[in-house]
Amino acid sequence: MTTIRLVQGDITRETADAIVNAANSSLLGGGGVDGAIHRRGGPAILDACRDLRASHYGKGLPTGQAVATTAGNLDARWVIHTVGPVWSASEDRSALLASCYRESLRVADELGARTVAFPAISTGVYRWPMDDAARIATETVRDTPTSVEEVRFVLFDDRAYEAFAQQT
Ligand code: ADP
Repeated sequence: MTTIRLVQGDITRETADAIVNAANSSLLGGGGVDGAIHRRGGPAILDACRDLRASHYGKGLPTGQAVATTAGNLDARWVIHTVGPVWSASEDRSALLASCYRESLRVADELGARTVAFPAISTGVYRWPMDDAARIATETVRDTPTSVEEVRFVLFDDRAYEAFAQQT
């Protein structure tokens, strides 16, 4: 059984085995939660991302996939980087958003992570409507078989917290 917990706050302040990053496909950092993770986690994360680019992801990490690095100075063992889809009004990209959660949990299982903290992937710069993103996130975690014991959604503001609370 996986327990789902909601907390409001800054994911870079969390203690967990793995912290999920809403990365972009370059893996070279960006704004939002990505920028915050690299700032607080320090240069070891970016170094590991550069190595991954060189070895496996020269064309970038595809949307919906996930990959792990060190967590640097964060209070975690790993950062799992996943690339959310950009919201589209004309195309249903829900399967890709669900894939971010499923693939992150798959990587967490491979690593042996028991506690995993997720941000609300795609709901910032990528503009996914919060209520819909919260539904996809919680449904996907509930429907994914995993050895992860605790999934913690770390919601940055009241609006995100309320949207996730509606789903649980
Ligand atoms: P994306 O490009 O996937 O939309 P963003 O980082 O722009 O990624 O936003 C994803 C979500 O993360 C947004 O809801 C944003 O408010 C939230 N967020 C930004 N900074 C943090 C943080 N430090 N901790 C947790 N969530 C954050």
